[in-house]
Amino acid sequence: MSFGFASERSGSELSHDLGRRLSRDALIVLPDSPHFEELAERWQDGGRPTYSVVVVVATERDVSESVKYANARGLPFLATVGGHGTYYGMGRLQNGMAIYLRNLTQLKLDRDGRSALVGGGLRVDDVIKGLWKIGKQTVTGSCNCVGITSPALGGGHGFLQGQYGLLADQILSARVVLANGSAITVSDREHKDLYWGLRGAGHNFGIVTEMKYKVYDVVRPQWSYVYFTFSGTQIEELYGLLNRMMFLQPAQATHWSLWLKDAAVDTVHPVISHSILFNGPLRELEKYAKPLYGLKNVGVYSGVTDYPGLADVTGYTVDGYLCQYKGKLAMWPSDVETYEVPAIRRWYDLFDEMVQAEEALSGSFCLLEGYSTQAVRAVPADSTAYPHRRQKLLLAPIIHYMPTGNQTLEAAATNWGSTMRTAAVGSNQRRSYVNYAQGNETTEAIYGYEPWRLQKLRTLKRQYDPEGRLSFYAPIA
Ligand SMILES: Cc1cc2nc3c(=O)[nH]c(=O)nc-3n(C[C@H](O)[C@H](O)[C@H](O)COP(=O)(O)OP(=O)(O)OC[C@H]3O[C@@H](n4cnc5c(N)ncnc54)[C@H](O)[C@@H]3O)c2cc1C
Repeated sequence: MSFGFASERSGSELSHDLGRRLSRDALIVLPDSPHFEELAERWQDGGRPTYSVVVVVATERDVSESVKYANARGLPFLATVGGHGTYYGMGRLQNGMAIYLRNLTQLKLDRDGRSALVGGGLRVDDVIKGLWKIGKQTVTGSCNCVGITSPALGGGHGFLQGQYGLLADQILSARVVLANGSAITVSDREHKDLYWGLRGAGHNFGIVTEMKYKVYDVVRPQWSYVYFTFSGTQIEELYGLLNRMMFLQPAQATHWSLWLKDAAVDTVHPVISHSILFNGPLRELEKYAKPLYGLKNVGVYSGVTDYPGLADVTGYTVDGYLCQYKGKLAMWPSDVETYEVPAIRRWYDLFDEMVQAEEALSGSFCLLEGYSTQAVRAVPADSTAYPHRRQKLLLAPIIHYMPTGNQTLEAAATNWGSTMRTAAVGSNQRRSYVNYAQGNETTEAIYGYEPWRLQKLRTLKRQYDPEGRLSFYAPIA
């Protein structure tokens, strides 16, 4: 991949000093370049870091040299791939260096066909399509424009997790550039302690240039889906039923509920779009989903596709609406074990109240994700740093609005988000998946409540990043 503006390496001291350490294909892009904005672009405005330079690296050595250079000059730095991180702490990085990894695009199947080398700059789209062409697949996130490595470093959820485990569970080894710029291999044989920490708290320990990642033959090529639309009056019936269905949820099925304003269905109250995505034929899905057909719905449709086709069905293609710039967006996530129905009702009522009261926030939505967890739970809880294996559901009010600088709106957005999260959590312990976290969560909520877990993470942090250079994304406090 080339951006075709190599001449931008000249013209400044920084370009000269850093440029001579980098490979021929690396690029140094300064703020006066017409390409700078494009490279520093993010999916949304919340917690936006600012940069005085973007280094488009071409090799692992470029990453090492960039980190060493930044350290020597006291420049804060941040790796960037898909630009989808929603952790507001990233905004603490000001006038720093972006280490842009998108050119690390290796995707190469191993001889045994059971793993592949996956470049640290690949996005979900690259991995799904690249593997599908050779009859393979692996666990990826659901949204095609998001990077593959960052979700994996935090655990990582996707439609295939019930069959194969989290994204992190697919990492066999990784090449990691540490905070001091040195590059090491991390696996169950080398730097075993870091291998544990990388899979769940990985953003804290280094920049991953490449991973050896498990891949699988495509044995069930067909996917099917069914989308129901329900009204808000059915919260109790729907989520009570889903609690019961969870006991029978096949490893191939994912439940997704989205609450949103849809004036074509209801001009006042948010509607519930509930879908099941299933790796198998439609008749099998319909058999499993039968109880849901028994509820009164406002609309229902179903169809079939394949794994790459899921992005079209869900609206998560790279050029689709959901991948485009979003204004300002704040997630208020919690991971829980079951739907606590009275809590879900309180949350829905608050959301209903908000979209009616605040026109500027009416593009907000709520997400209730029920990925299957059989293979996730089969991995021993203490074998990786990912701490939420027992939590089956990801719940998140997602507040969305266009940034206007209006402080009253900002305060209202925060207040609604926080109030809704408190309602959604109900009587559950507060837990937040690191890649959905916003920055106002405790270290325990993100990395787990077991004292041994936090102690182990803190020891690793002291050992591998004593200066706290990698502390803009969910730092281990
Ligand atoms: C629309 C949308 C859909 C999503 N869908 C899913 C999903 O299905 N499953 C899921 O688990 N999560 C999902 N997420 C959350 C996602 O995992 C995080 O937002 C993730 O951090 C995005 O990674 P990125 O490379 O796109 O973002 P960036 O903003 O580029 O990176 C985020 C953080 O990761 C670090 N990072 C990125 N690449 C590397 C690397 N190679 N080595 C070390 N650090 C790195 C960056 O430095 C930064 O701190 C979704 C988020 C959004 C906004």
